Amino acid sequence: MKQFIRKDLQGITPYSSARDEFKGEAGIWLDANENASVTAWNRYPDPLQGKLKQTISELKNIPVENLFLGNGSDEVLDLLLRLTCTPFQDTIAFFDPSYGMYDVLARINGLSTKRIPLNERFEVDWSQLSEAIAGTRALIICNPNNPTGNLFSQEAICAVLRTYQGVVIVDEAYIDFSEQSSMSKLVNEFPNLVVVQTLSKAYGMAGLRVGMAIANIEWIAALNSIKPPYNLSSLVQETAVNLIQSTDWKAVITDIITERNRLFEALSQQKGVVEVFPSETNFILFRVEDATRLYRSLADAGVVVRNRSSQYNCNNTLRVTIGSEAENTLFLTLIKQFYND
Ligand SMILES: *Cc1c(COP(=O)(O)O)cnc(C)c1O
Repeated sequence: MKQFIRKDLQGITPYSSARDEFKGEAGIWLDANENASVTAWNRYPDPLQGKLKQTISELKNIPVENLFLGNGSDEVLDLLLRLTCTPFQDTIAFFDPSYGMYDVLARINGLSTKRIPLNERFEVDWSQLSEAIAGTRALIICNPNNPTGNLFSQEAICAVLRTYQGVVIVDEAYIDFSEQSSMSKLVNEFPNLVVVQTLSKAYGMAGLRVGMAIANIEWIAALNSIKPPYNLSSLVQETAVNLIQSTDWKAVITDIITERNRLFEALSQQKGVVEVFPSETNFILFRVEDATRLYRSLADAGVVVRNRSSQYNCNNTLRVTIGSEAENTLFLTLIKQFYND
């Protein structure tokens, strides 16, 4: 696994915080230059987020030792690229269209990019892929994909894992809305697989910023060795634990999927809508006759969607997030009005 780590970071000595060096019950903490005056937040947070990891482990049925937590999965992805790729030397590959942050993260890490074009159905030509990604250091696969909503075959990804020389980062931000199971069960089978998930989408905590990497224990140790020591605040850790434990997440997710299916059917019947792309996520990409005018009209009525028309193969498309039942109904009513239907 060491071969995937940037040469100059192999064996780096991590910053050792006061709370790394003493664990246990002490009455008096004079080790971290905190302010002893009593505010609720005067102490540094748990650097390795033990309680939150335990709670996520139970929620997702993933062993604690295979979890790494970041300040949103955007931080996790950033740390993964920093850990594996050498600036001004390496190239990362990702599909096009996909999540816009991959390109930004490549740039801020000084990396070149290789875009793998998806076809008009947003599928990959797997037979050409290994040639296209040869020589790249990492491949990021968003599965299900944003902004298109479709799934890629797990078998095809496994075939890539077997032959590819670099690391495959599978970004499963939307996996909880999908029929397919997570690839996290395979992290001990493939040393070059890292799965990324988040509490931002299915678990309603985008404002808390909790993302995770799921990987074998060597990856987790390597990520811990380069992360900012206190990357998740105490407030966030406590709040996330409470929310995970106090909510019926299966029911929440089922309701979103029910609304997604209703929206899909309604859009498919709607005059003016040219094409609705099947979705395994909490959003739907659809093509209309004039995306820019519809976008404007919805926005004027106070409903903001995402215009994805400038993305590759996405001419005249909008991406709508599945909202509450009332929000979705209003959205559908506005489209009906727009097309005088
Ligand atoms: C929203 C999103 C993320 C970002 O998640 P955070 O955990 O909120 O940073 C990552 N990947 C994809 C594909 C997303 O759509």
